[in-house]
Amino acid sequence: MKIKICGLFDPANIAAVVTEQPDLVGFIFYPKSKRYVGTNFDPKGIANLPKSTQKVGVFVNEDRDHIISIQTQFAFDYIQLHGEETPEDCAFLKAKGMRIIKAFGVDDGFDFSQLSDYLPYCDYFLFDTATPNYGGSGQSFPWEILNDYPFDTPLILSGGLGVVEVKTFLNSPIPKVEILDCNSKLEKENHHKNLDLVAEVLALTRKTNSGIQPDAAGYYGEFGGAFVPEMLYPNVKELQDQYLFHLHDPEFQREFQDLLKSYVGRPTPLFFSKNLSAHFGGKIYLKREDLNHTGAHKINNAIGQVLLAKRLQKKRIIAETGAGQHGVATATACALLGMECTIYMGEIDIQRQQPNVERMRLMGAKIVPATSGSRTLKDATNEAIRAWINNPVDTYYVIGSAVGPHPYPDMVARFQSVISEEIQVQLKQETGQAAPDYLIACLGGGSNAIGAFYHFIGNPKTQLIAVEAGGLGVDSGKTAATIALGKKGIIHGSKTFLIQTDDGQIVEPHSISAGLDYPGIGPVHAHLSATGLAKVVSVTDEEAVAAALQLARLDGILPALESAHALAYLPKMQLQPDEIVVVNLSGRGDKDLATLIPFLAHEK
Ligand SMILES: *Cc1c(COP(=O)(O)O)cnc(C)c1O
Repeated sequence: MKIKICGLFDPANIAAVVTEQPDLVGFIFYPKSKRYVGTNFDPKGIANLPKSTQKVGVFVNEDRDHIISIQTQFAFDYIQLHGEETPEDCAFLKAKGMRIIKAFGVDDGFDFSQLSDYLPYCDYFLFDTATPNYGGSGQSFPWEILNDYPFDTPLILSGGLGVVEVKTFLNSPIPKVEILDCNSKLEKENHHKNLDLVAEVLALTRKTNSGIQPDAAGYYGEFGGAFVPEMLYPNVKELQDQYLFHLHDPEFQREFQDLLKSYVGRPTPLFFSKNLSAHFGGKIYLKREDLNHTGAHKINNAIGQVLLAKRLQKKRIIAETGAGQHGVATATACALLGMECTIYMGEIDIQRQQPNVERMRLMGAKIVPATSGSRTLKDATNEAIRAWINNPVDTYYVIGSAVGPHPYPDMVARFQSVISEEIQVQLKQETGQAAPDYLIACLGGGSNAIGAFYHFIGNPKTQLIAVEAGGLGVDSGKTAATIALGKKGIIHGSKTFLIQTDDGQIVEPHSISAGLDYPGIGPVHAHLSATGLAKVVSVTDEEAVAAALQLARLDGILPALESAHALAYLPKMQLQPDEIVVVNLSGRGDKDLATLIPFLAHEK
């Protein structure tokens, strides 16, 4: 979803609004408007504005030649015709090379067939509340009317859109509406735009931007989808049809948010690390997901999905786990919410992760070993899917990362997005700016990273950095750097990158951190990487261990080895003193003691 800020006329206010980087801005060339740009409006000022914001010239029943002369000076990206212009007017201006937005005032009896003659000439149709003065009334019209819109030309919604209305719209968006046009509701005195309101509206829409929400079939660009066995199709379809309804239900949100607060311990602190900042430069903040109940971010999603399963009237929960972190989070949520819980785990992992196995058992979960193949995570996943097929009606499968068939990646991202929601608020309180310059997270399947990135995706102020597990080195054959090495393929129900041989066999990944040891990657990260919206890097086992020990020594925080991968990117950055970095500390390192202790012996 994009935002157009319309009705700008004052040069200082224009400059200020544009620094918030709206998608489009509009200038009104209608002398009767209270927001008329006036006769001295300067084309040079407009030409110097950043290219990333598109400019729209707005006219009402204006003389064609006058529009052409204005357009010659200002070179607007779009011309918006807000009066009774005819299809011929649009055709004429389009033939002069202009891109056309045709506006219509909507009232109860709006007849969409009147648009047909405009179709060949218009790039967008804009719908505004019908008023005698051509818009600017601050009134909304009943948007539901647009559900009946029969054409493919994309839409701009206008009329009385402020923060509250934008939020309402985003909660139940209307197909074909691509741009929300905000004007009077974002103003303070003298029709100047209020920058806080502008920023707030942009923050709201950024989370829906940039393909961060998959399309109806679950694709982020070319990645994603839902490749499931026919037997499971009804379950997955049920989830696809229902998840947004439940997630948007205020009652569900209340219950979820209450548990995040009183049970998980949210909001987690955003800790300014003076010591890391002194060491690496910049201003380094740690988002303390390690302080969540059960020691990592995974509980956010486990509670969300188990609540959803109850709403779908499922009786049993199943899940797979590798290192045991997701298994523990799921067993915890099931104990709390009174659900029967079975966890599938590779036989090898059961031996390697004994304490987590016991934790799950203590909370009443049943552990089923996967004894086929390499007897690790991917075999446990296969086993869980088999169990689901055998019992599809009353069983809910909790997936622990931003992977799997649609809608799992989107659902997990939404449950974890509380991380970036909090970062925005906390960073704003601490520094006055809501968006950091850099945001770093480790990348296993991608749930902590997408949660930390969610509200910043598409925000040009923030460079998103995802750190994969390089293992012994990306070219060593013992690595989990999926995006660095991966080829496109299908794994666990979605199209994404995975590490595979030339004939498509999955290569057993390696990482010192069990939680990053996964041969695929969530489809949203494949997309963010392919589109350049996030930068993907990798660090080795050795670098991650060094970063873990360093944080323990510098700040008295022992991070999970997964999270240490994100920290291990800090030495590779050259930070300026003013630059703000947030590292998502996805979990705590107590579970990694056995791996870390031998490294103490190597220290001099
Ligand atoms: C599971 C886990 C990860 C990796 O999973 P993602 O889905 O990529 O977040 C990272 N950190 C911790 C602490 C974990 O438990």
